[in-house]
Amino acid sequence: MQSTQILTLIRLLSKLPSLGPRSGRRIALHLLKNRETLLGPLKEALIQADLHLKTCSTCFNLDTQDPCGLCEDHRRDNTTLCIIEDVADLWALERVGSYKGRYHILGGALSALNGKGPEDLTIDPLIKRLELFPFSEVILALSATVEGQTTLHYICERLSMAHPTLKVTTIAHGVPLGGELDFLDDGTIATAFQGRSTVNW
Ligand SMILES: [Zn+2]
Repeated sequence: MQSTQILTLIRLLSKLPSLGPRSGRRIALHLLKNRETLLGPLKEALIQADLHLKTCSTCFNLDTQDPCGLCEDHRRDNTTLCIIEDVADLWALERVGSYKGRYHILGGALSALNGKGPEDLTIDPLIKRLELFPFSEVILALSATVEGQTTLHYICERLSMAHPTLKVTTIAHGVPLGGELDFLDDGTIATAFQGRSTVNW
């Protein structure tokens, strides 16, 4: 018989990406066996993250400040805007370091299966942002999945109506993005950016 506290802990851990009830149970036990070195510091880190991290109202990155450090960095190139699905993509691109422009994070991809429509993504703020700031190139760095490509076509359609003269490019095909950039080596990411092609509408 397990206590309510343990069951709650297992249930919450099981909801984390890539985890299920079995790994949830294993992690719960591991945390409880390592209270001082893991459970305590983890609790504190979660509290601090909840208290201090916020979403940037310009690019939708996560940071302790709004606008975020990247949006506030005046050394970055104001002429290119890279559209990505998740913060994890931004982290991967920043790790590679070859892209020096601005970002716009969509907050996922369109998915009928997961009930994610255009209003759930930051597409309207993107269209507005492009009205306010004259970017000369918009790079669509979306995943090669069905959801990623559906999102890409939807955004192209919206952009062709709202900003018909804008130069829009896509990164080289066959490169998995959408939170998957993290698994790629830096050279592959850099090559995907160099091999980007212009969208013609
Ligand atoms: Zn930002």
